[in-house]
Amino acid sequence: MQESAQTIKVVVVGGGQAGLSASYFLSKSGIEHVVFERSQRFHSWKNDRWDSFCLVTPNWQCRLPEWPYTGHDPTGYMVKDDIVDYLEGFANSFEPPIQEGVRVTDVERCPDGKISITTNKSRWLADFVILATGSYDLQVKPDFSKNLNPDIVQISSKSYKRPSDIPDGTCLVIGTGQSGVQMMEDLWMEGRDVRLSVGSAPRSPRVYRGRDATDWLYEIGEYSKTIEEQADPRHTEAKTNHYLSGRDGGHEIDLRDFALKGLKLYGTVSHIENDHIFFKSDLEENLDQADESYLKICRMIDDYIETEGIDAPDIPVFTKKWKPAKETHSLNMTTEGITSILWCTGFKPDYSWLKIDCLDERGRPIHKRGITSQSGVYFLGLNWLNTWGSGRFLSVADDAEFLVDNIKNNLRSIDSSKNLAVTT
Ligand SMILES: Cc1cc2nc3c(=O)[nH]c(=O)nc-3n(C[C@H](O)[C@H](O)[C@H](O)COP(=O)(O)OP(=O)(O)OC[C@H]3O[C@@H](n4cnc5c(N)ncnc54)[C@H](O)[C@@H]3O)c2cc1C
Repeated sequence: MQESAQTIKVVVVGGGQAGLSASYFLSKSGIEHVVFERSQRFHSWKNDRWDSFCLVTPNWQCRLPEWPYTGHDPTGYMVKDDIVDYLEGFANSFEPPIQEGVRVTDVERCPDGKISITTNKSRWLADFVILATGSYDLQVKPDFSKNLNPDIVQISSKSYKRPSDIPDGTCLVIGTGQSGVQMMEDLWMEGRDVRLSVGSAPRSPRVYRGRDATDWLYEIGEYSKTIEEQADPRHTEAKTNHYLSGRDGGHEIDLRDFALKGLKLYGTVSHIENDHIFFKSDLEENLDQADESYLKICRMIDDYIETEGIDAPDIPVFTKKWKPAKETHSLNMTTEGITSILWCTGFKPDYSWLKIDCLDERGRPIHKRGITSQSGVYFLGLNWLNTWGSGRFLSVADDAEFLVDNIKNNLRSIDSSKNLAVTT
């Protein structure tokens, strides 16, 4: 049996950039708190990314609380070790009260209204809990993956580190979110035999009309728009990230270019039966859809340039350089020499330890800018918690400050109601 519970004002679950941003503002406000991290701080950047990983967002967007990027390359894209140095610099700037190697196993409401937080080491009672465990905790893989011939090696994007992790032979990468296209490119650049199953992810230009597309979008105000201002908030929240790359100075990824160079592309996988893999007939549709999202961004930038009368270089008219001659419906993987599958089919958060009712029927947090209807329970770091940058380096600091301000106000009302009780 664990020792009796310790009491504290705030518990933060998760020692990534979101949890430590909250800790920064709590420390600054003198609010007693502890951060629990099951592994070590910034675990996901240190251990869940591949060796050649680069940011997709430019360095200037790294804006942790009072810790902006100050390196020599604000328009570049940091590699993994530099990202970790940037994060460690931030943590060292204020020395958060973090306990590493402490996994939260249970968060529940006590009869007196306090929040009970049980870890693998101790039990705590808090007035507030900030859940900052990230959007990418559990790897999502379709159920039919278990039907695959066990001789074909299955690797998930979280465990992929370098091309030598992939067995000899052909690797089929499944999924075209940021991880899928970048891992395909990592293998391709190493001269490995790779193929790609193309999903419905959107894509983005990198440099357009003389500037990084993200610079334009920032200036246009796209990154300040809140989730409520989106045409279809539920759809926006669930949308896969646009694919493009920050590698070697950054570039866009047009899969039609790769196809012209010999990369074999397929539609979405519909099911697997031992050696046989089946695809939907949606390759052309998915490529068209990715181009449409690309062109939508271009049009937005063109309109802005025109309205503001900006002198920006023209670029050649967009053309579709390749299209599939016919859709492939199935392959026998053994006869095709496919020896491995790299699953890049997404992630979801893990809230199996959360026993307070604040998730919807899809298991997603119900909140308004991180504040739930359950008193004292907050989320931070989620994609589109408030804006596009909420789940990224760009805006997590704004959201953290907003939540800590809310906690401060609540603490003030708790204190004043106590004083009232004493004087009456
Ligand atoms: C492949 C990939 C590429 C990305 N590229 C970019 C980019 O270019 N630019 C950008 O701005 N953003 C990018 N992001 C998004 C975002 O910046 C990262 O996901 C970032 O790690 C989010 O930080 P976080 O603190 O919210 O979550 P995490 O970094 O995931 O931190 C959550 C922490 O919680 C801990 N934890 C979880 N459960 C428990 C528990 N029960 N008890 C205790 N601790 C727990 C975990 O160990 C982890 O350390 C990328 C994300 C991915 C997955």
